[in-house]
Amino acid sequence: MCKLERLYLTHNLLTNRTTRRSIPFTISFCRRLVEVYLDNNQLDALPCILLRVPSLERVHRHGNHNYFKNTFMFYHTDIQDRILMMPGMNLNKMFLRKDLKNLAAGAVLSSRVDFYNNPTVPPGVKEYLSLKANNAELCDQCSRVLTSSSPSYRVFTFKNPYLGNTCVPFQHTACTLLCAEDIEIPARREQMNSARQQDLEYEQYMQQSMQDMHQERGILGSRSDTLRSKTSR
Ligand SMILES: [Zn+2]
Repeated sequence: MCKLERLYLTHNLLTNRTTRRSIPFTISFCRRLVEVYLDNNQLDALPCILLRVPSLERVHRHGNHNYFKNTFMFYHTDIQDRILMMPGMNLNKMFLRKDLKNLAAGAVLSSRVDFYNNPTVPPGVKEYLSLKANNAELCDQCSRVLTSSSPSYRVFTFKNPYLGNTCVPFQHTACTLLCAEDIEIPARREQMNSARQQDLEYEQYMQQSMQDMHQERGILGSRSDTLRSKTSR
């Protein structure tokens, strides 16, 4: 997996809502990944874990109808309210064991270390961690393992990290309101600065184009004057 460069996940019923049908955080272990195909899924926004794959250049995301319906409407209407609280599920306590093995696994997952490529981790433990990782969701700010029983926060941010894309919505998960704000506030500031920068560049481009056009007209005008004076002679 660490040599993977292109990943095709089209038509996979992927959503942002449940961990089981989303992209596992272990995708960030693919350090050579440059292109991901997420077309025709049910995503509201891109999973924030993609932002932790620095080699990623292009994400294809056509045909996620919820993506346009929910996130872009959200973007235009709730611009000041991009943090949503998600209530926890009422689970049987049997599923929430806090034995040493579970706690140790949680600590490894929280560290975001690529345990698959770590020779000090025995194969049996890798298998166990792999099972845990498939169902685990980490806070995007502090990397705490989130349990489905406790409330969490969904955070929407808008970034433009990929080639040819502008304003890509991302969905993050946070364990507390504090972590949610630590994700949302700098992202909003960055988005506003980027919008200001784009406006400035557009204005400069327009001014330059107008100057070029006037200059061209001036040259053409002087040429036609010369031509007219030559023919009248
Ligand atoms: Zn957190």
